[in-house]
Amino acid sequence: MRLPMGGSLIAGTLRQEGEMFPVENPATGEVTCELPAAPGGVVDAAVGAARQAGRGEWGSMSPGRRQGLLEALAAAVREHEEELAELECLDNGVPLAIVRRFSVAALGRSLRYFAGWIDKFAGEVVPLTGGSALDYLTREPYGVVVAISAYNTPSLYLGSKVAPALAAGNTVVVKPSPLASLPALRFAELCTEAGLPAGTVNVVLGGAAVGSALVAHPDVGKIGFTGSRTSGREVSRLAAEHLTPVSLELGGKSPNIVFADADLSQVSAGAALGAFALTGQACAAGSRLFVHEDVLDTVIASLEAAAQALPLGLPQDPTTVLGPLISAEHRERVEGFLTRAVDSGAEVLCGGDRPGGELSGGYFLRPAVVVGATDRSEVVTEEIFGPVVAVLPFRSEEEVVGRANASAYGLAAGIWTRDLSRAHRVARRLEAGFVWVNTYGTVPHTAPFGGVKQSGDAREGSRLALEDYTRAKNVYVQL
Ligand code: NAD
Repeated sequence: MRLPMGGSLIAGTLRQEGEMFPVENPATGEVTCELPAAPGGVVDAAVGAARQAGRGEWGSMSPGRRQGLLEALAAAVREHEEELAELECLDNGVPLAIVRRFSVAALGRSLRYFAGWIDKFAGEVVPLTGGSALDYLTREPYGVVVAISAYNTPSLYLGSKVAPALAAGNTVVVKPSPLASLPALRFAELCTEAGLPAGTVNVVLGGAAVGSALVAHPDVGKIGFTGSRTSGREVSRLAAEHLTPVSLELGGKSPNIVFADADLSQVSAGAALGAFALTGQACAAGSRLFVHEDVLDTVIASLEAAAQALPLGLPQDPTTVLGPLISAEHRERVEGFLTRAVDSGAEVLCGGDRPGGELSGGYFLRPAVVVGATDRSEVVTEEIFGPVVAVLPFRSEEEVVGRANASAYGLAAGIWTRDLSRAHRVARRLEAGFVWVNTYGTVPHTAPFGGVKQSGDAREGSRLALEDYTRAKNVYVQL
């Protein structure tokens, strides 16, 4: 596998100054390479290059030509899918087969989808109640969009942020997570190869300090951010200095609710994958599993069996479903939640231990099922972002809706029931941006994904993403 060029990429030029940080393979603990964190001058250069491209070739290009270039980029991504998947897998340890099918596939799909919107996304004629006039509304690009993302599915975020931002006519500065930078670097090379003008897509490497410098930059028009609630708060605070608009995709502590009339043959797989997919490093993980007490024992037994049956292994192995956690530090953090849960009276029914053998060099952790935790304990209230599910019994619909909503977060939720009315009634009452019924985790690229409350306000995918990356302009014409 060829590693992409090792440095920030500004208008196609490699910038290698800056303090080096390691790129670690979480499956082995080995350092793959080192990359430079962009100093202030490189951040300025990236925003400047994006601004220039927006005011120059990219900004003045016809929408049809822009569409052609995005289609060419989608084709380039498709041609290099395997390479992107291998880089992502090496970087964040997500199993190769899953990266291929999920994250990298989503990138190509988003590029094609948003390219397709270019000749369909329209403004509107505004109805008037008086006067002889014409009033119309157009949507305009913000200019320079900064796209900052988390480590778990980096290619997917390139699709969910860069694709709509470009389709809407913006230029972009991408700041990937320092824990998963490689796919963005290869993507930027593909942008050049596909013929996008220099400066249209730039990649700036580094962590929170580099992200902060971008967010605080006065020439940035819009920020698309995916990350934790803590980082999101800081991003909002920094962006407030210039009142730069921000769209936030933050964390969650999503409830997955199993009613007594659910088809239990489907629930165990849905609940296990809902909580443990990506080794629990999924924003929408169904980490609070509410189960009606009539079916509690059955669900717990099948969930435990499903958790233990999920193949944990090296990411390159095609049979692996669960890879490692991202870092040694993160694994210790997840283990800390389990230890404290037990200390406060909960029980870990299975998992939570480290596998040995060929996996002992990486940051693996077996999926853990926790019972007996109270609603107020941290294992139930805090986002763990690891393979931990808390099982919580309930008696009534009214009670479970209240408890499910008693969270600062509101990203996603699941409902398992055969009662059609209950499914829609509960879906309506849950405080979440995305609700699944009798399944968990599927997000079509045509549907808007995002949260409410402290899970953020962004909507990725669908037409709504184009609204996120454009601003309204109204023109009133006296006739
Ligand atoms: P993180 O918040 O540590 O980092 C995310 C990104 O923000 C990184 O690129 C990081 O360098 C950058 N960053 C951190 N502090 C910053 C600051 N002050 N200014 C600018 N940039 C800053 O998150 P993570 O550990 O990479 O990812 C896990 C978190 O992301 C979880 O909370 C998870 O739920 C959330 N997430 C949300 C979604 C969603 O769509 N809602 C998707 C994936 C992950």
